[in-house]
Amino acid sequence: MSLIERYRDRLPFGPEDPVVTLHEGSTPLVPAPRVSERAGVEVWLKLEGANPTGSFKDRGMTCAVSAAVREGARAVICASTGNTAASAAAYAARAGLTGAVIVPEGKIATGKLAQALVHGARVIALRSNFDRALELVRELADRHPIALVNSVNALRLEGQKTAAFEVLDELGEIDALAIPVGNAGNVTAYWKGFQEVGAAPRMLGFQAEGAAPLVHGAPVEHPETVASAIRIGNPARWEEAMGAVVGSSGAIRAVSDGEILAAWRLLSAGEGVFCEPASAASVAGLLRHGPGEARRVVCVLTGHGLKDPQTALDHAGAVVPCAPEFDALEAAVLES
Ligand SMILES: *Cc1c(COP(=O)(O)O)cnc(C)c1O
Repeated sequence: MSLIERYRDRLPFGPEDPVVTLHEGSTPLVPAPRVSERAGVEVWLKLEGANPTGSFKDRGMTCAVSAAVREGARAVICASTGNTAASAAAYAARAGLTGAVIVPEGKIATGKLAQALVHGARVIALRSNFDRALELVRELADRHPIALVNSVNALRLEGQKTAAFEVLDELGEIDALAIPVGNAGNVTAYWKGFQEVGAAPRMLGFQAEGAAPLVHGAPVEHPETVASAIRIGNPARWEEAMGAVVGSSGAIRAVSDGEILAAWRLLSAGEGVFCEPASAASVAGLLRHGPGEARRVVCVLTGHGLKDPQTALDHAGAVVPCAPEFDALEAAVLES
C-alpha cells in the first residue's frame, strides 16, 4: 500500500489528490542481538534500505512528487549526495515528469549514480560540494516552474515522519532513536512524527567527524568522510534539528570514519544487515557515546549497502582464487 494511503489522515493529501507511489515505507524493524550485547541495551534496527530505491528518501519523495503533480509541475529538481537523486529520478519516472539531479562531481556512490541514470534523470556533476549544489538549485527553482524536492521542501519531512509512526506501532514505546545526520531533515522529521503522537524519545543524532557542523556549532567548508550520504557542511535543517535535540533532551555528536566502518562491519558480518556507511553512523554513535538512561533504542539504518559497492569492496575481505581441481577447491574452502 502507498505510504500516503496508509497515513492519509496525518498527511496533507486529500482523497482526490494524485498519488505517485512505489509502495514505500512499512520497512522491517529487526532486533540486533550483537549490537545489543555491545551497547548493553535493547537495540532495534529500522531497515530503511528496504524502501523501493534503497533509502528512506522514498518516504519523502512520494509526498514531494505527488504534490508537484498536484500543482502541475512538469519537472522536478534536487541537489543530492546520491540517495535523493536516485529517489527523485525514480519517482519522476513513475510520474512521467522530467527529473534533473545535481550531484557533487566524483563524490557520489556508484549504485546511486546508476539509479539516477537508469531512471532517465538528467544527471549534472557540479565541480563543488553538496552545499553549493543546494544553493544553486534553490535559485533555479525560484526562477523556473520546476519543483524542488530537497528536504527544504516541507512535504519531504511530512513523508519521512511516518517512519516514527511505524516504529511506535511495532514497539509501543522507545527511549531513544539513534540516527545519522547530514542535512538534518530526517532527524527533524522523526521528531515531528513522534511529537504528533505524543511520544518524546531522546533524539541521538550522529555526524561524521569530518562533517560535523552541528557538533562544532559552525559550518564546515570542506566536509570529508567515507560516509558520502552525510558529507554535508551546512545543514539546511540546522535550527529544526537543534530544536529536536533540545526538545527531546537528546544530543548531536560526532563519530570517526573508523568507528563508522567498524559499526558497518559489525552490522554486516554480525547481524546480516548490509547498510551503506552513512547508515552505520547511528550504531557507531550508540557504541561510542553510550545509550545514557535509555533501555530500548532504535537505530535508523538509512540506506542499503548495495548503494556503495566500492566502499564495501575496499573494506571487506579478499576473494580467494582457486584452480579448477578438487584438491585445490577443498583447500580453498577448508583452510583458514
Ligand atoms: C540522506 C541520507 C542521510 C542524511 O539524512 P538527512 O536528512 O540529510 O540528515 C543519511 N543516510 C543516508 C543513507 C541518506 O541517504
